[in-house]
Amino acid sequence: MENCIFCKIIAGEIPSAKVYEDDEIVIFKDIEPKAKIHLLCVPKEHFAYLSELNEARAALVGRTLLKIGKIKDDLGLSEGYRVVVNQGENAGQTVHHLHIHLLGGEPLPW
Ligand code: 5GP
Ligand code: ZN
Repeated sequence: MENCIFCKIIAGEIPSAKVYEDDEIVIFKDIEPKAKIHLLCVPKEHFAYLSELNEARAALVGRTLLKIGKIKDDLGLSEGYRVVVNQGENAGQTVHHLHIHLLGGEPLPW
């Protein structure tokens, strides 16, 4: 997708600190971390909103959550973590490619 920063990261056109990658997702460090560990888990397929889910995308997001649960220890999140998906303007979504924030590495203020 043109002008999508996460598509460019996925394509390797923009550097990122990747910590995990497979054929359908990539996980890299947020450039402006809001916790000791702040990762972005990004399905490679470009779409912006949960309202754009279809059965295939819902299954992709499900597999993404499954993977996060499986590799949480390798990501440094064994003591717990927060999962955040910002959607739209009021949530402050700035990148319009669906992504899951993973925050942890320390006790998080609510
Ligand atoms: P949103 O506000 O859309 O939920 O989250 C977008 C996140 O992407 C922000 O936390 C922001 O710091 C991060 N971000 C924006 N541009 C880049 C970039 O070029 N590289 C990385 N690693 N993170 C980025
Ligand atoms: Zn994209």
